[in-house]
Amino acid sequence: MTWKVLFFDLDGTLYHPEQGLWQAIGERIEAFLQQLLRIPPAQARALRYAYAQRYGTTLRGLQEEHGIDPWDYLSYISQVPVERYLKPDPQLRQILESLPQPKWILTNADASYARRVLRALSVEDLFEGILDIETLEWVPKPHQRAFQRAWQAAGVTQPATTLLVDDLVRNVQGALEAGMGAVLVHPHPPQTDVPWIPHLGELPRWMTNARTSFPETGVIS
Ligand SMILES: [Mg+2]
Repeated sequence: MTWKVLFFDLDGTLYHPEQGLWQAIGERIEAFLQQLLRIPPAQARALRYAYAQRYGTTLRGLQEEHGIDPWDYLSYISQVPVERYLKPDPQLRQILESLPQPKWILTNADASYARRVLRALSVEDLFEGILDIETLEWVPKPHQRAFQRAWQAAGVTQPATTLLVDDLVRNVQGALEAGMGAVLVHPHPPQTDVPWIPHLGELPRWMTNARTSFPETGVIS
C-alpha cells in the first residue's frame, strides 16, 4: 500500500518558516490583539502564544473567549503584502510535481489568502483544492475534528493512507493521533519525537522509507 492523498500546510511549510512573510503575519496578529483588547505589545505577544497553545490558533482563542467575527480578524491579517515576500519557486514546483498523489492545502488560514500564497509561489495548479479554516468549520488543526473534516472534504475513506506535511509539531502530533501519517518539515530538528525532515526536498525519499512503519488501519465509512 502506498500514500494515497497528501495534505500540505501552507505557511512555513511551502516556504521557509523564517522568511519575512510569517513574521509579518505575526506582527499583524499582535497588532489586531492590541487594538481589539487595548493591551500593550508584550501582552499581545504573550496572548498570541497562549491562544495558539491552548486553542490551536489565535483566531480560535478570540472566538472562544471574545466571540469575535472571524472575518474581522481574517480580513485584517490578510492585508499582509504576500507578493513582497514570496516569488515563484521552481524547486518547490519540481518536488510537488514528482509526487503523483492528489495534493490538498490544509490550512488554518482563509482560502483567499492561501490562494495568494500559492499564486505567488506559482504552484496553485498543482493542488486539488484548498481546505481552509471556513471549510474546517472554524475548528483548526491540531483538533481531531479538523482532520476528520479534511478527510471528508477530500473524499478520503482510509485516513491511514493519507499524509500531513506541516511545520508545527502540535499539528503533526494531532494528525498522528487522528490516525493519519504526518511529518514535520522544519529547518531545525524538533524537541519531541515526531517524524521530521529538514526540507521539502527530502519528502519523496521520506515517503518511500516511512510507508512500512505506519499501520494499515483506520478505515472509515
Ligand atoms: Mg504552518
